[in-house]
Amino acid sequence: MAEFPIEPADRIKTLPPYLFAAIDEMKKKAIARGMDIINLGIGDPDLPTPAPIVERMRQEVGNPKHHQYPSYEGMLTFRQAVATWYQRRFGVSLDDGTEVLTLIGSKEGIGHVPLAMVNSGDIVLVPTPGYPVYPVGTGFAGGVSYMMPLTKANHYLPDLAAIPADVARKAKLMFLNYPNNPTSATAGKEFFKRVVDFAQEHRVIVCHDAAYSEIYYDGRRPASFLEADGAKEVGVEFHSLSKTFNMTGWRIGFAVGNTQVLAALGKVKSNLDSGVFQAVQEAGITALQSGEALVDGIRSIYQERRDVLLTGLKRIGLEVEPLHAAFYVWITVPKGFTSASFTAYLLEKTGIVTTPGNGFGDAGEGYIRMTLCTNKERLAEAVERIEKVGLNA
Ligand SMILES: *Cc1c(COP(=O)(O)O)cnc(C)c1O
Repeated sequence: MAEFPIEPADRIKTLPPYLFAAIDEMKKKAIARGMDIINLGIGDPDLPTPAPIVERMRQEVGNPKHHQYPSYEGMLTFRQAVATWYQRRFGVSLDDGTEVLTLIGSKEGIGHVPLAMVNSGDIVLVPTPGYPVYPVGTGFAGGVSYMMPLTKANHYLPDLAAIPADVARKAKLMFLNYPNNPTSATAGKEFFKRVVDFAQEHRVIVCHDAAYSEIYYDGRRPASFLEADGAKEVGVEFHSLSKTFNMTGWRIGFAVGNTQVLAALGKVKSNLDSGVFQAVQEAGITALQSGEALVDGIRSIYQERRDVLLTGLKRIGLEVEPLHAAFYVWITVPKGFTSASFTAYLLEKTGIVTTPGNGFGDAGEGYIRMTLCTNKERLAEAVERIEKVGLNA
């Protein structure tokens, strides 16, 4: 039989190298040496989904009407629950028929929205450091990412005035993400208003990723992009039940806002997927209707962990960004280290897994990211281990 070379498509071959492969390799070696690993690399809640949500799923999974194809846009009852939640949480009203679209996790919508809106060669404005799905989704659609650096000096907000005029003119879409992964920075309503003005002036569609809107501390509730005047005319906001309700494995999220963007994204979805299992949507309704009761407990656990880790890291001399939302600790690497060498140092000397900042884009060089998805005893131990080995390269 004649063999021929099996070649993946260029869009796959040109994906950025999987930076975490090197870390996985180091982790395996450390485990083989008998090291006790503290994994502060994963951005996936370690706590279980709250019991009432699981119980609703148990009941609904036996209902035969859920065993058939769901509608791609989501059950009307789920979209109504979203609209009610949105009104209560942000004071923004949404038409549950046209301004809410159910997603198979927000990553699904974020990855697909460039297919819906971006033509080959169009520019997409992408924050760096940032969630890798923004540039990758852009590339899959044939778009070209223009990276907007998020820096400490700018409080990790993109400097819109620094975007060159020809880039702004050619830009079709902009991704933003607050509370931010990986820096945990937040954005206020007045920043969102400036984004709306920029979008209107340059006719740019705004896609705001609000996956962490409900993970906040000290009572400082993050704003929605849609709270800014005129936001619905220029963009959409992506939400997720994953981080809010410890439901990363369930795959459910939603997009809200501009009807034309949602209709186009819906067309992509109706051709590529067939929506979210209805029993999961029923469980999602229970989650959204639970009020603050379920999330309050989750928040206070993260807040305790944050206090342990941030206080500890500062005490031993690390420079750490403030953390009022999301669950990421953004740490400046000590003198003499790079992101990669500090990550390797911590793993080899202490068994602590972290993520090098440059894994989120070039502007993340000089930082590492730790997560709060581990219990506070282990976080305290992580601090002790680092203190013991010191911070000298
Ligand atoms: C976790 C995460 C998401 C999405 O998660 P889903 O489980 O797909 O809803 C989206 N954006 C950012 C920045 C994230 O960290």
